[in-house]
Amino acid sequence: MTNEDILRVKGLGCLRDKTTPDCFNIRVITRNGKITAEELDAISMAAKKFGSGEVAFTTRQTVEIQRVKYENIDTLIDFLKEYGLETGGTGPKVRPVVSCKGTTCVFGLIDTFDLSMKIHQRFYKGYRNVKFPHKLKIAVGGCPNNCVKPDLNDIGIVGQLIPTVDTEKCRGCKACAVEKACPIKACKVVDGKIEYDRNACNNCGRCKGKCPFNAFDSYTVGYKIYIGGRWGKQFSRGIALSRIFTSESECLNAIEKAMLLFKDKGIQGERFAQTIDRISFDEAEKLIYSNELLERKDEILSK
Ligand code: SF4
Ligand code: SF4
Ligand code: SF4
Repeated sequence: MTNEDILRVKGLGCLRDKTTPDCFNIRVITRNGKITAEELDAISMAAKKFGSGEVAFTTRQTVEIQRVKYENIDTLIDFLKEYGLETGGTGPKVRPVVSCKGTTCVFGLIDTFDLSMKIHQRFYKGYRNVKFPHKLKIAVGGCPNNCVKPDLNDIGIVGQLIPTVDTEKCRGCKACAVEKACPIKACKVVDGKIEYDRNACNNCGRCKGKCPFNAFDSYTVGYKIYIGGRWGKQFSRGIALSRIFTSESECLNAIEKAMLLFKDKGIQGERFAQTIDRISFDEAEKLIYSNELLERKDEILSK
């Protein structure tokens, strides 16, 4: 096994097991953090047939088949392909998407599994051959509880439910159900009227339907996008774009523009956070709001 061999299979998502002289852990992509029972069976069979019979779950929702000998790697990859599974997820590329279970979670405000699958298809697979200045991590969260920490990813999406409050309908109840339901105290009854703090509200939607007099009945689904987060050797919290996107297609286009921005303006070896720091968040946001990056997509990707 030469260094070239090791690098070749690393590019396929196969990482050296340092406890052995010739074995690798094979990283299987789960696309959106969810796999079928049949796929799970296939991973299990592959682990028994080619590996030590064990699998390890990574923090970013991939599954690593343990201790596979170098000479079995290509056969294992072909075996997984028969079940529609792929290995990968390494290098300066779009990394496998991480998704919370917002689709089924009681707090979920968007269909996270569906959106993550679309991101997987369009950006993980669609940009497979694109080399970025550094790795590019994307996470999708269903609500501001941030279970998958979208703001600590290069690009993070958070589901939103934006209230349009009709204060005219408020009757100033003694015990306001909305005030009670709001976890961050963005609502308060003052002098017999509800006061709603738009800036404090995190669009969690917990107040929906709580007011018996319909002051909190109108809501819009949205997608908040954070850019420039990371968590590792160095840490930075992503900054949310000031605009909350109210359609999935706008959200997906904004993700693509952010990716193109990183590809276009990033310097080899720097994370997206550093690119944004260098060019300024305002400039990054301006470019993401314009169509320039998408119009220049072919030119940017040909670099
Ligand atoms: S982020 Fe929200 S929707 Fe997603 S799992 Fe956590 S609580 Fe549920
Ligand atoms: S429950 Fe509705 S009507 Fe009553 S105080 Fe709260 S917002 Fe106003
Ligand atoms: S959406 Fe959430 S934060 Fe905003 S007012 Fe309603 S409960 Fe409070």
